[in-house]
Amino acid sequence: MNTNVKAYGAKSATADLEPMSIERRETKPSDVKIEITYCGVCHSDIHTVRNDWQNSVYPVIPGHEIIGKVLEVGENVTKFKKDQLVGVGCLVDSCQTCSSCDEGLEQYCENGWTGTYNSKDNHMQDKQTYGGYSTSIVVDEKFVLSIPENIDEKAAAPLLCAGITTWSPLSQWKVKKGDKVGVVGLGGLGHMGVKFANALGAHVVMITTSPDKASDATSLGAHEVLISKNEEDMQKHNNSFDFILNTIPVGHDMNPYIALLKRDATMVLVGAVEPLKPFHGGGIIMGRKRISGSLIGGIKETQEMLDFCGKHNIVSDIEMIDMKDINKAYKRVIDADVKYRFVIDMKSLKN
Ligand code: NAP
Ligand code: ZN
Repeated sequence: MNTNVKAYGAKSATADLEPMSIERRETKPSDVKIEITYCGVCHSDIHTVRNDWQNSVYPVIPGHEIIGKVLEVGENVTKFKKDQLVGVGCLVDSCQTCSSCDEGLEQYCENGWTGTYNSKDNHMQDKQTYGGYSTSIVVDEKFVLSIPENIDEKAAAPLLCAGITTWSPLSQWKVKKGDKVGVVGLGGLGHMGVKFANALGAHVVMITTSPDKASDATSLGAHEVLISKNEEDMQKHNNSFDFILNTIPVGHDMNPYIALLKRDATMVLVGAVEPLKPFHGGGIIMGRKRISGSLIGGIKETQEMLDFCGKHNIVSDIEMIDMKDINKAYKRVIDADVKYRFVIDMKSLKN
């Protein structure tokens, strides 16, 4: 039987998030029913609530950095058992038959992947998927991750999106010991990018608009801090980076960042899912430089990232909030004032 559960969501692009009741499907044979204990707050939640990407269907119930405990498993579930600590990220379904799915790249599913929220729900007719700002969720076991028991579960929540979105490009572009790696933007994604690049042995340069974040950047693992507004300092680093991970959440002028790349080096965009300002072709022609994009990561890769975090004891730096404080938290994220990821304690929604 479907059940109604408590949630928090937005009824329109201009509305605050507010309490609501949503329906979850019954636990089918390959499903895992999860009691959500913590959920991270991603800037994508805000983009979706505000309809920045022009594809939101209301109500929007955001949340794709979900940590929880297994309440119940369907009869065909083999990987999970009751009470296990699990996670759900940005994906809850894909076709499982196309070449991307075959390669474990469900996020590039050629028949369209199902996002944890704001996607058409394949299991409930005429419904949208609803995310983790809620007390429970039902997900096919293929899209459930196991969380290493040794890491702090609250601080593990952001690994499910901020973690995998930064891990995937670092791993795809084979960032290695000694590479000079720039991470642009010190927010949820950026702070994980710094931690991972450091753990991989790179020489990490935090590239930020906020001079007051410099000392935090260093404690997170950056070896140098470059203030992007300081043109002279930026130019000193021209043609010197092996790889740049760009997490800026809005369209921007990429020319100064392209100039930082070495010959044949790549800048990967993960933040700006919107038009960018024009950039000069000469900037990439001179030096055979590359610009690419990257979307979250596949399920296999996400599990590998979580296992790496377990082994190296890597988690996010978080600020805990109660569900009712979500609208204030959104404002602080927009003001680039988050250190460095908000995580909602879902007990505050249950009570
Ligand atoms: P966030 O916590 O808000 O961090 C973004 C950081 O970018 C800010 O803290 C700020 O850092 C910098 N920044 C903000 N506005 C800027 C501007 N106008 N110019 C230059 N720098 C600016 O956001 P997030 O959660 O890390 O997400 C970053 C972006 O990635 C969002 O757009 C999100 O939707 C997207 N995203 C993409 C994927 C994917 O799969 N590709 C996955 C998750 C999220 P400083 O103060 O250091 O400058
Ligand atoms: Zn996200």
